Amino acid sequence: MKVAETIESVRNHIKAAHAKGKKIGFVPTMGALHIGHISLIEEAKKQADYVVVSIFVNPTQFGPGEDFEKYPRPLEKDLDICDKYGVDLVFAPAPKEMYDSQNLTWVTVEKLTEPLCGRFRLGHFRGVTTVCAKLFNIVQPDVTFFGQKDAQQAIVIKRMVADLNIPLQIVICPTVREPDGLAVSSRNQYLSAQQRKDAALIYKSLQKCKEMIGTGATDVQQIIAEMQKILQQITSTEIEYVSIVNAETLGEIDCISGRVLAAVAVRLGPARLIDNILVDGGKTIMYN
Ligand code: AMP
Repeated sequence: MKVAETIESVRNHIKAAHAKGKKIGFVPTMGALHIGHISLIEEAKKQADYVVVSIFVNPTQFGPGEDFEKYPRPLEKDLDICDKYGVDLVFAPAPKEMYDSQNLTWVTVEKLTEPLCGRFRLGHFRGVTTVCAKLFNIVQPDVTFFGQKDAQQAIVIKRMVADLNIPLQIVICPTVREPDGLAVSSRNQYLSAQQRKDAALIYKSLQKCKEMIGTGATDVQQIIAEMQKILQQITSTEIEYVSIVNAETLGEIDCISGRVLAAVAVRLGPARLIDNILVDGGKTIMYN
C-alpha cells in the first residue's frame, strides 16, 4: 500500500494506475476509520481494481465551536486498517496541501443544502462540496463511495457531480449499525456509557416512523410527534431536528407519499449524532 501526502505524489500513482487500465475506486473519509468506512472500502474493492482512500479532517466543513480540533486523528491505526483491507493508495494530506492560503474558490450547491443539517451547520456543505470537488480533481476516480449515514451529503455530492459534469459514478452504501441499531460513527467515542445507551433511541425513533408508515399513517406531523416522544426519553439531549422530507428534493411534506427520508440530528453530551432511513411504503430501502 502506498501513502501519499502530496497532490503531486497522488497524481503520479494515479497516472501509473490509469496507464495499466485500472478502474479507480475512491473512498473519501476524515479518518478514525471504523466498520462503516470499511464497508465502503469493501464495496470499492468489489467495483474497482485500484482503491484510493483519503484521510483528511477538512477544516472548511467545521463551523466555529464545532469539534475540528478534537476530532480523532489515529493515523497509524487508520493506515493499518487500510492496509489490511487491501487499499492501494492512501492520500493523507496536511491542510496546507489542500488549501492554498490565497484560496478564493468555493463550490456551493443550492437548495439541497438548506434543510436538515444545513440549517444547523452554516457553511458545512460548502466545505464538503469544495473539498470533494478538489479531491475528485486530484484522484480522478471512476467511481466514488459514500455512506447513506450522511444521506444529505451524498445527495448534495450527487447533484454537484451532475451539475459540474464530473465524469464520476457515485455509489451510496448502506448505513452500518451497532447491534442496538446506533449508526456507527467516529463521534460515538465521545459518549459516556449512559449516553451511549441512550443513543440507541435515535434508531428506535426512525423505526417508529417506518412502522407508522407501514400501518398506514400519512400525517407527517403526527409521525414526527411520536418520534420526538421516543427521543425525549434521552436525558440531557437537545433535539436539533426530526424531519420527514421528500427523498429526492429534501423538500418539506405534510403527507407521506412515495419515497421519504426520515432524518434525525441530536446533541448528546459532547457529540452531535445524525441518522436517517429511506422509507417507501413502510419498507426501508436504499438510495441506489
Ligand atoms: P467521515 O469520515 O465521517 O467523513 O465519513 C466518510 C464516509 O463514510 C462518508 O461517506 C460517510 O457517510 C461514511 N460513513 C460514516 N459512517 C458510516 C456508517 N455507519 N455506515 C456507512 N457509511 C458510513
